[in-house]
Amino acid sequence: MQVVSYSIICLSLLYVGLSCGQPLQDQDREYVGFATLPNQVHRKSVKKGFEFTLMVVGESGLGKSTLVNSLFLTDLYKDRKVLNAEERLAQTVGITKNTVCIEEKGVKLKLNIVDTQGYGDTINNTDSYKCVSDYIDHQFEQYRRDEIGLNRKNIQDNRVHCCLYFISPFGHGLRPLDVECMRALQDKVNIIPVVAKSDGLTYDEVKKKKSRILSEIDKYRLKIYQFPDCDSDEDEEFRRQDMELKRSVPFAVIGSNMVVDVNGRRIRARLYPWGVVEVENQYHSDFVHLRNMLVRTHMQDLKDMTHDTHYESYRAQWLVLGRLDFISCTA
Ligand code: GDP
Repeated sequence: MQVVSYSIICLSLLYVGLSCGQPLQDQDREYVGFATLPNQVHRKSVKKGFEFTLMVVGESGLGKSTLVNSLFLTDLYKDRKVLNAEERLAQTVGITKNTVCIEEKGVKLKLNIVDTQGYGDTINNTDSYKCVSDYIDHQFEQYRRDEIGLNRKNIQDNRVHCCLYFISPFGHGLRPLDVECMRALQDKVNIIPVVAKSDGLTYDEVKKKKSRILSEIDKYRLKIYQFPDCDSDEDEEFRRQDMELKRSVPFAVIGSNMVVDVNGRRIRARLYPWGVVEVENQYHSDFVHLRNMLVRTHMQDLKDMTHDTHYESYRAQWLVLGRLDFISCTA
């Protein structure tokens, strides 16, 4: 009898000790603590910061730099020299990279913007996209070498995570150069097509252009970035937004470097004699959908696709084709 009561006392002491004076609930007794793992990962990633490389491809004057400035609320092209028509014809495609570090609520993002100046500007544009494709390959090659190098902990990831491909609003759908370029890049990078300067088109024209571009993408079997399916546990509102996002492709966009006062609101907009086109107004363009997708919802998926699909395919080709042959073909 004494032994039994002694063990009851011990057990209840342990019970009291564990629960700090509170009786333990069933779920608390089963709690080990690994539910905090996401928080640990979150804290570590925030401390390390994030990196993202966005490439913009399209002929000069389609509004690439204005859109990038509008997307990230920066002025990335302060020192850019705008070439005249003669200089543009004489120049070859040059790749420039601008980096900006932005911080929002303690989260740091190192954003690299790769611009393709001179793309599509010459009369013979056969090699325009070769330079872009080579650039992407070189970043993969650099990453591959760093990965097998000594200092793999601090690898600088310069791989291109996303390519915004600018389609002219003035032509009829895709031009041959667009088709060739997308075909050359489709297995190397996540391509997101955008219809540039869509404020020059009416609502119906935008609709027609989008459907023509999509049917041409289908006809030429071009691979553009595929949005992942929604998880089954996502709520109704998230699903609706996701559907809307998918329906917006190719995004019809508008950019502006000008901030104007509209009814007491300071907004990025384009001023016309007949009114104001607001960059962030969903009824005026797909800018907000594009920004939400790039920054808020799909940035990590774009990075994962780059690493798991495009980079892996580069690495596999490198291994299969024989290292030296492959390096000489991509050099
Ligand atoms: P980039 O050469 O492709 O980088 O083009 P820029 O961003 O330098 O833009 C070229 C010109 O187009 C500038 O005068 C811009 O103000 C104008 N622009 C940029 N975005 C838009 C747009 O969405 N709509 C219109 N109508 N003009 C734009």
